[in-house]
Amino acid sequence: MVARIIPVEPFDLVIFGGTGDLARRKILPGLYRRLADGQMPPEARIIGAARSDLDDDGFRELVREALYEYQREEDLDSEQVETFLGLLFYVTVDAKGDAGWEDLKKLMNPDRVHAFYFSVAPSLFGPIAERLKDRGIADDEARIVVEKPFGHDLESAKALNASLAQHFNEKQIYRIDHYLGKETVQNLMAVRFGNMLFEPLWNSQYVDHIQITVAETVGVGGRGEYYDRSGAMRDMVQNHLLQLLCLIAMEPPSRYDPDAVRDEKLKVIRALDTVRPDDLVRGQYLAGPSGPSYLEDVGNPNSLTECFIAMRLAVSNWRWAGTPFYLRTGKRLKARTSEIAIVFKDAPHSIFDVPQGRHSNVLSIRLQPNEGMEMSVTIKEPGPGGMRLIDVPLDMSFAEALGEQASDIPDAYERLIMDVIRGNQTLFMRGDEVEAAWAWTDPVIADWESRGHVPSPYDQGSSGPDDALMLLHRDGRRWRDIRQ
Ligand code: NAD
Repeated sequence: MVARIIPVEPFDLVIFGGTGDLARRKILPGLYRRLADGQMPPEARIIGAARSDLDDDGFRELVREALYEYQREEDLDSEQVETFLGLLFYVTVDAKGDAGWEDLKKLMNPDRVHAFYFSVAPSLFGPIAERLKDRGIADDEARIVVEKPFGHDLESAKALNASLAQHFNEKQIYRIDHYLGKETVQNLMAVRFGNMLFEPLWNSQYVDHIQITVAETVGVGGRGEYYDRSGAMRDMVQNHLLQLLCLIAMEPPSRYDPDAVRDEKLKVIRALDTVRPDDLVRGQYLAGPSGPSYLEDVGNPNSLTECFIAMRLAVSNWRWAGTPFYLRTGKRLKARTSEIAIVFKDAPHSIFDVPQGRHSNVLSIRLQPNEGMEMSVTIKEPGPGGMRLIDVPLDMSFAEALGEQASDIPDAYERLIMDVIRGNQTLFMRGDEVEAAWAWTDPVIADWESRGHVPSPYDQGSSGPDDALMLLHRDGRRWRDIRQ
């Protein structure tokens, strides 16, 4: 099976913060792969714009080093690297001042798609948007891409939305959540809405509960101070986990079109009940084999910020009343994995001699590693031993079904950037969605802050604090194992 690559039209992409960590690690290597795959036209140009005093050649050197550091070796072809570097240009700009903006304007080619990637601190979003518009660099067709974090709470998210809306309309704004760019996330929609098989079962009558796990093995590392002002709820739940929950819980949209999909996701966020204190567990990792404790990592022995969170959520609508959604995410856990599990109810009556509560049918959707889906079903254990039942996976991993093509699945960033060039906003968050997510998040945080809640300690390499296990045990359920 050969992947069909549909080239995008020629574009000028300006990356503000083009010398930064995100640009070097993700955005530029991703663009290189799109060129190597033939999706990016050779007339395309990528313009780095940042504070460092560099010229075009200096920027090309920086990007060359980034490619050799962050790109898989088998994807590097020296000729293609040179072609890619030839598409790069650089301007030194001061996001909050006057320097560089005229140079940028002169560099832009007319009559092609213009996209501006804001890979800078959110405090620079407004000043950059203002200069792009006031100086006539971006017109009404231009697209801007903004990175997370999109606000720290509802008020700051509203302020960011308002500052962008002064200069760009909503159709021009692409708020990135790279989880939505993952192949499996789109496949989740394909499986749900492209088949008859699942949708009739996709409700509280047949689904016992849903688990969403995003586990990391890394600690907060070098960004401890930043992280400590944020925490797992703001850093992971408010955006990535809620987005995944929305895709699972939403009603079928009338079309696969940006606003139809986002309208349905918004309804889900608005249907979320607030989390009861009993339904929430927060944690911090202790010192262990992989390094110091969370408190040492962030340099604050009194920190009350969580780097692990687990919760039980209710989506209050007809489809999901009575089916809990359990979410958990944390650092320094047992394995690095992101998984959504739809756990179906038991058959209403068992004709076999097996206990109830086995939950044999689980559709698990893995986002990383090894993107793919797996459905477990009960079968008879082979052999002459009578009617003994076992659960086996019907594996739908991309690697097996698609062969070599699976290893060519574009990374989320590169796919999303190509969507920006094509003008497709389906996998980007709309302003009202982001605000609704904060409107749900803020009172939950305010509640634990008002109670002075202290996160529970947990061992490195574990599945999080014991209280998180209890969250499901008391409901007669179990978390799925966190495994690679
Ligand atoms: P970084 O500090 O490595 O780079 C910041 C970039 O902004 C540099 O290129 C710098 O020159 C430029 N810059 C800073 N002040 C400027 C100014 N006044 N005028 C012009 N340019 C200026 O940051 P990063 O890690 O690349 O992150 C960029 C954004 O992406 C941040 O909002 C961050 O939260 C977000 N983000 C980063 C990651 C990541 O993995 N690094 C992941 C998700 C989101």
